[in-house]
Amino acid sequence: MKTEFSLAQLADPDIKEADKILRACVHCGFCTATCPTYVLLGDELDSPRGRIYLIKEMLEKDAPPTEEVVKHIDRCLSCLACMTTCPSGVNYMHLVDQARVRIERDYRRPLSERLLRWVLSLVLPNPKLFRTSMLLARLGRPLAVLLPTRKPSATPTLLRRIKAMLALAPAHLPAPGPKAGTVFSAAGKRRARVALLQGCAQQVLAPRINQAAVNVLTRHGIEVVLVADEQCCGALTHHMGRDDDALTRARANVSAWTTEAERAGLDAILVTTSGCGTVIKDYGYMLREDSAFKGPAAKVSALAKDITEYLAGLELQRQVNGEASAHDGLTVAYHSACSLQHGQKVVSLPKELLSKSGFVVKDVPESHLCCGSAGTYNLLQPDIATRLRDRKLANIASVKPDMIAAGNIGCMMQIAGGTSVPVVHTIELLDWATGGPRPGDRGLGAPERGPN
Ligand code: SF4
Ligand code: SF4
Repeated sequence: MKTEFSLAQLADPDIKEADKILRACVHCGFCTATCPTYVLLGDELDSPRGRIYLIKEMLEKDAPPTEEVVKHIDRCLSCLACMTTCPSGVNYMHLVDQARVRIERDYRRPLSERLLRWVLSLVLPNPKLFRTSMLLARLGRPLAVLLPTRKPSATPTLLRRIKAMLALAPAHLPAPGPKAGTVFSAAGKRRARVALLQGCAQQVLAPRINQAAVNVLTRHGIEVVLVADEQCCGALTHHMGRDDDALTRARANVSAWTTEAERAGLDAILVTTSGCGTVIKDYGYMLREDSAFKGPAAKVSALAKDITEYLAGLELQRQVNGEASAHDGLTVAYHSACSLQHGQKVVSLPKELLSKSGFVVKDVPESHLCCGSAGTYNLLQPDIATRLRDRKLANIASVKPDMIAAGNIGCMMQIAGGTSVPVVHTIELLDWATGGPRPGDRGLGAPERGPN
């Protein structure tokens, strides 16, 4: 794609990067076929190619984004299916991230929208505030039926969004998990030492997930540390264009993990929430212009691994007890989170681990399409998100699973909101297969279906 940036514009490293990305696009349109919003809405401007044109124009003109640009960029899920499909290697992720920062900086949203985004960026990355807000939302859930039900719309109202938030609030909240700074010793001879990202929303909604990871790792000789001073990874605010906040968090985490690695050694930084993993693996890029942090950030990114990537390098010990285990032959629909399959290119490893552990793993048809969760997307764009969820649920139902597994809490919550089939994290099944409890026996069931 031909670009027309001035030399002065190209002196800006972000514009130089955008120019490189834009020039790689040959406008073939292959990406449109796998873009969830294009598949649903059929509008070229809601396709990757259309958005690339909009971003190019916005950056070249160097003028405040128009309402139209904001509308179509806001509807993008950042699912990155387009990056998997693109034959030219266009890095849409870095381009749309830049567009979101520009929108956040130069576009004045309506007051209600600004307030909503401010609240989300304040509450979601902070586990204490998030826990309090979930408790309040539980009280507010009965009132959701009183909110007006409007026709689904690709440009939802504030009330519709509040209704969606109440719908996603779980009926029960588990007790908090172990504190930051806790070290879990390896069983037997120590083979390695890893940090496990504590996450923000996940540690409130489902501490059982990291508990399962700790169980599997320590059972296989890995010492696990929950690093003190670690923060939210910054993914939520990064995807809202609030880069000052995201970069501050990235720097804090790079410092915390680097200090821990120097103090006691770290062989890996493991992540059980793939949305966070994608961003941590990108810290090196995000901090590339920061001379003090770019080196340590690149090291942190290189150490970051999804839990299934790390476990694939170990020989997991199945617990068979002489006969077939209770989980053997159970049919699991594996939902491939976008951040894992498109963002990190971790596609087959989780399924292979589950199969080797005795589960019958079924691929979900249209597995490349997002479930609609996408960070804060299901809160900000609830109607598109619900259409995607219902499509995902129909595809999942077609394989008649006993359980649904995913590697991302956002997807788990989104999918569980519309099905009675248990939704669990992949690591919970691997824990079960290697001697841990059956998922669901830990105290928190799937979130109840909300008043959508
Ligand atoms: S597939 Fe790649 S090269 Fe083709 S239009 Fe989409 S982004 Fe551009
Ligand atoms: S990130 Fe997903 S929603 Fe956004 S343009 Fe690419 S495929 Fe479409």
